[in-house]
Amino acid sequence: MEFTKPLPAYLVTRYHGWKATTYAENHAWYRRLATEGQRPRAMVISCCDSRVHVTSIFGADQGEFFIHRNIANLVPAYEPDGNHHGTSAAVEYAVTALKVAHVIVLGHSNCGGVQGCLDMCQGRAPELEEKSSFVGRWMDILKPGYEAVKDSPDMPRALEHEAVRVSLRNLMTFPFVQRAVEAGELSLHGLWTDIAEGGLHHLDAKSSGFVEV
Ligand SMILES: [Zn+2]
Repeated sequence: MEFTKPLPAYLVTRYHGWKATTYAENHAWYRRLATEGQRPRAMVISCCDSRVHVTSIFGADQGEFFIHRNIANLVPAYEPDGNHHGTSAAVEYAVTALKVAHVIVLGHSNCGGVQGCLDMCQGRAPELEEKSSFVGRWMDILKPGYEAVKDSPDMPRALEHEAVRVSLRNLMTFPFVQRAVEAGELSLHGLWTDIAEGGLHHLDAKSSGFVEV
């Protein structure tokens, strides 16, 4: 692996700081986590965006959330075609092996992925329409969502909300998700966070709209 480099000094310093404080103060708890294994109650599917900090907004520790992050917090539809499906694998493991009680899809404001989808759908991003664009082909998942909200005066927020709805609907196309939901063993939740305001909105089952938590 001669193409790799040493860790940047600032990360080495931060790591040693964590080891000497947070870890040192809780080492028994970390050892128990290691030997007893993980039993997270919730899976969170959020965007890769560095400003979305789900453990921070819920004050969560190691072992609490099974987190999967991808561009624009999207879940594709169930597609057992033998290809590489990272998101579907994470959902499968969380639901069938860890048996989480909750799957939370967390969308966010100022989402670059959603903006990219909006630009592509409105003909402003030919580079995303290339077959070779991984981001573009990933954002195809949200194209039907664009059709549903394209006349909204509140773009891109309407499409950010729709990304959460599309993912929740797609989650239900996984037979093991549908079974667990119908058996009352699993609850699905939609959330959207406003980065500037620190706001958190949840998807209301009745209206399918988002209301502040
Ligand atoms: Zn995003």
